[in-house]
Amino acid sequence: MYDLILRRARLPDDTLTDIAVSEGKIAAIGTLCGAAKQERVLAEGVYLSAGWIDAHVHCYARSPIYHDEPDRLGVDAGVTTVVDAGSTGADDIDDFWRRTRQATTRVQALLNIARSGMATQHELADLTQIDAPAALAALRRHAGFAVGLKARMSGSVVGENGITPLYLARSLQQAAGGLPLMVHIGNAPPDLDEIADLLEAGDILTHCYHGKPNRILTAAGALRESVRRALARGVLLDVGHGSASFSFTVARAAIACGILPHTISSDIYCRNRLHGPVYTLAHVMSTFLSLGMTLVQVIACVTERAAAALRLSDRGVLIPGAQADFTLFSLRRQPLPLRDAEGLTLTGDRHLIPLAALIAGRCYLTEEGRNSDVFV
Ligand SMILES: [Zn+2]
Repeated sequence: MYDLILRRARLPDDTLTDIAVSEGKIAAIGTLCGAAKQERVLAEGVYLSAGWIDAHVHCYARSPIYHDEPDRLGVDAGVTTVVDAGSTGADDIDDFWRRTRQATTRVQALLNIARSGMATQHELADLTQIDAPAALAALRRHAGFAVGLKARMSGSVVGENGITPLYLARSLQQAAGGLPLMVHIGNAPPDLDEIADLLEAGDILTHCYHGKPNRILTAAGALRESVRRALARGVLLDVGHGSASFSFTVARAAIACGILPHTISSDIYCRNRLHGPVYTLAHVMSTFLSLGMTLVQVIACVTERAAAALRLSDRGVLIPGAQADFTLFSLRRQPLPLRDAEGLTLTGDRHLIPLAALIAGRCYLTEEGRNSDVFV
């Protein structure tokens, strides 16, 4: 006897399946005839995927600028796991962790290599902020919550320190046993070539389609050779849309030459959630549908690929034993106004509408979900 069977779940590739849940985990998938304490039949047109993972958000409520509440950008938007990308460092991750215990959304953190986290805008301008013993102790205290490291490698953050913080991030990562390292790029210095040449397989380069001069494309619009070599080594590209880090021009040119994102993330926090251009992870995902990616590709970027990049081995896939985390959504074909961080606008044609997040088998409807027929 299963706890729950979801019937007629439409997967992103349009196949239909049943999924059984027991004790918060996926128990079986396929055409199921077993009995369950509860059965729900999905309405026509409702899609199901593994729960969406937003690999780059900011949701530490006490952060002075980039703050939010995890559930506003998580379950309320159909997202089952959010990964806070460096809002906190060794000084404030304990407080962040305590606060996340009240959230319904699963929250993970990438520890900022600076002990102050993002309490200032220039946390790596003072190298004494990179306190390896304090960071390693924080990672040990929060194993399972802090799943990696974050280093913001742009001019306004590193000040006079150039590429040095990235060397320190690498030695910290190695001392911590090789956890994922997410590296933010933006304005030089350091030059992107310097950064890209230091990245290794599994490192995550975020804000990959930003439109500032220090971007992944050359002035002629070709992919930088340093980025091409990094991708060949296994470096991963993350979108990290945000308020200032996404350009339609760059994304379109990169996608045209086959440079697709490995993970689609929002870099969302309260201000760009309420006032745009981000709004929700679904909105960022819809942008990539409009830029020519398929639904299967887009969903993979927030499920199995995000889970793999952050080594969340119990999530992102629909296989028995994985967490029973699902996102239910619909795909609405209607004109969708989109705006990038450069102020360019575009009219999208397909709009992903999150209807519900299921976390460990428990269903949380979004506002759209409450106003539509999700189940028969
Ligand atoms: Zn960010």
